[in-house]
Amino acid sequence: MAYAEVAVNAAAPIRQTFTYRIPDGLPVRAGHAVYVPFGSRRLQGVVLEVMDEPAFAEAREIEAIIDPEPVLSPERAQLARWLSDHYLAPLFDCVALMLPPGFKRRPLTVLRPLVSAGELAALTLTDRQRAALTHLIAEGATEQEQLRRALHLRSVTTLVSALLLKGLVERTYELARPQVRPKVVTHLSLVVPAGEALRRASELRREDRPQPLRRAMVLQALAEDGPLPLSELRSRGLTAAVLRDLEADGLATREDVTVVRDPLAGRQYAKRQAPALTAEQDEAYRRIAEALESGGHAQAFLLHGVTGSGKTEVYLQALDKAVALGKRAIVLVPEISLTPQTVRRFGERFPGRVAVMHSGLSLGEHFDVWREVRAGRYDVVVGPRGALFAPQPELGLVVLDEEHEWTYKQQEGSPRYHARLAAEQLCRLTGAALVLGSATPDVESHFRAQEGSYRLLELTQRLQRTEAGGVAPSPLPEVEVVDLREELKAGNRSIFSRSLTAGILGALSSKEQVILFLNRRGTASFVQCRDCGHVPACSSCAVSLTLHSFAGEEDRLVCHYCRRSRPVPSQCPECGGARIRPLGLGTERVEEEARRAFPNARTLRWDRDVTRGRDAHERILARFLAHEADILIGTQMVAKGLDMPLVTLVGVISADTALRFPDFRSGERTFQLLEQVAGRAGRGPRGGRVVIQTYSPEHYAVIAAAAHDYHALYAREIEFRRRLGYPPFGRLARLVFAHTNERYAQEQAASMVRHLRGERDRRGLPNLDVLGPAPAFVPRLRGRWRWQVIVRGGDPAELLADAPFPRGWTLDIDPVSLL
Ligand code: ADP
Ligand code: ZN
Repeated sequence: MAYAEVAVNAAAPIRQTFTYRIPDGLPVRAGHAVYVPFGSRRLQGVVLEVMDEPAFAEAREIEAIIDPEPVLSPERAQLARWLSDHYLAPLFDCVALMLPPGFKRRPLTVLRPLVSAGELAALTLTDRQRAALTHLIAEGATEQEQLRRALHLRSVTTLVSALLLKGLVERTYELARPQVRPKVVTHLSLVVPAGEALRRASELRREDRPQPLRRAMVLQALAEDGPLPLSELRSRGLTAAVLRDLEADGLATREDVTVVRDPLAGRQYAKRQAPALTAEQDEAYRRIAEALESGGHAQAFLLHGVTGSGKTEVYLQALDKAVALGKRAIVLVPEISLTPQTVRRFGERFPGRVAVMHSGLSLGEHFDVWREVRAGRYDVVVGPRGALFAPQPELGLVVLDEEHEWTYKQQEGSPRYHARLAAEQLCRLTGAALVLGSATPDVESHFRAQEGSYRLLELTQRLQRTEAGGVAPSPLPEVEVVDLREELKAGNRSIFSRSLTAGILGALSSKEQVILFLNRRGTASFVQCRDCGHVPACSSCAVSLTLHSFAGEEDRLVCHYCRRSRPVPSQCPECGGARIRPLGLGTERVEEEARRAFPNARTLRWDRDVTRGRDAHERILARFLAHEADILIGTQMVAKGLDMPLVTLVGVISADTALRFPDFRSGERTFQLLEQVAGRAGRGPRGGRVVIQTYSPEHYAVIAAAAHDYHALYAREIEFRRRLGYPPFGRLARLVFAHTNERYAQEQAASMVRHLRGERDRRGLPNLDVLGPAPAFVPRLRGRWRWQVIVRGGDPAELLADAPFPRGWTLDIDPVSLL
């Protein structure tokens, strides 16, 4: 007897498999999708393991195999289990990451006749049964739905059951290719600036009537989230009348947005030859190549190379090597739309052998690519984090480019996995090599390299093309830090310091380009002294205090880790100055000011608000590369790995928004942002310069970025983490409870804290802190109040694995941020 452990697609969040007996003659293997009885229902499931002995005595029988080919390899079945255990996520959610798109839909039912035309005459059958069999014998294997149509019947279920019972037909299942969803989605977008929309929204709210209230809701949604599909806005107040009014008032307009498809489709690439590697590159490449040749011994590398040091070239040659050894590879990039140049380079080196998997594909297209990948059609799969789960056979190499990026962590939905950790696990299971590349490695990754679980490969020289077509080392751009307190003292109230202004004017007059960078997240969420730059912080958690409004009370500064709070000071506790204010500045404002200060410059803005729509990123980038604009103003996006040779000056409008973000990773994050954005300057022969404006020039992250000194940043950061038990020295879990009733949300969170502390003490797990409850950084989201509990210490999962989490709770194990 054989038994199968099956992950069942039940609605309940179950972390275990169920045991089923495999009927004789049914060729069930690990990875097969199957139908199983579950209670009184029949559900889809995936076999994770096949065994001789049942893990559960009263096992029921598997009913059918859904697709003849397994949907998971045995290693991926194990990976799903590991994900479920590590992230305390429902098992089927973890399996679902790896399934072909549309798996949860009803599969196709295929019928085959088991009798021949000759035998038919001798059988006693109803007219319908005879007609059905005649059709099946004529057509061969036929989908049940086609049979129904051919016979002009409303349903053939009873008819088919009767034929099955008589043993005259055989029934199998196949996964259905999902219908292609419409390629164009209508969005509503603001015509006026977001600030203006918010002002109108508050005016409308004051009228206190249903119709204006709805208009206000829609305006606010558009101001906060940018253009949104009409379908989504319906749940946020939009009606036909609201739409008409908003358009008539010139506040919003409809636009058709085409869903982005395969970025490599329709482009022909001539194969590009690989350049000869530099000595440093060659050293890194050879270590990876050795690991690939040794075959089957998973090895992980951290490729730490400054911006422009030729990391991508090392990946490309390593991929060549893997392919030459008969292996296949997966390359992860933080976000497809922001890395068009990188994606193109893979396409050029392996023409026709690269599949791009990303969320812009329709379900049908995704399904096709998935099948082709499983069949071994592609040497390389490129995509964002989810592409790690592509069914790439013979996996020999996984590359994570920009491994420090937070987009590698799934932050919504389940499971909340980190692609780096999952990749490490997949490589361990398959014996593939793993290459993590970054100019600013995650502190945890660098720590792992220090302690030896990753091998460290370093590229210290930035490369520049020479006239002769080769490359030569070139210096990293010089960085100047401007103290904004001094600007104020000197009477300069503009958002551009004197040095930055001079730099911009200089670049403009030499016909060069400028990037102005502002990290907009977190504006106005904390207060800062305009005289000395001080930002109040929590003494026990070392994170900035967040400004919160509570109904009927004065605003307070709250630590959103431990919930200590205090009134907003009217005087700066550091310098006694009276000008302590919320911080607030956005990219729109920067663009307005730039236009005013440099009326002859052509500006271009690049942020979430202007990048909806087909190929928006590529269009903006192309315009800037074509020198159709002189100054590019943007958020994080401009910091990505783009090569813009005419850019000689990068200005960071304020390093403080990132620096004072109330999160323990804010120092690391600031360094990464500054270093990455600085890396955009001086990629051409004219060299480049960076100006960082800040109220905190003495902060270690700013000092390290100014010196391009990763190791200085690392030393400070690791010391601080060690002291407070933050990762990598302790692990974190973040639990959020969301509810429409604020009191209830708080009470539930408080009772969770009591429960967890009680359990911890009862089970003697002293090295775990249970912090909170505290209001989440975003205290109310989509109408729900959010309270959070943080578990910090050795292994939070140990405490949380058996805790009850009723509806309303979300769990995030190893969160990248506690916001
Ligand atoms: P990174 O990925 O580290 O930012 P890239 O791989 O993009 O760096 O390399 C920077 C630039 O140098 C690119 O234009 C690349 O084509 C070029 N380059 C890198 N290595 C070589 C090499 N060995 N020979 C010639 N050009 C190279
Ligand atoms: Zn605190």
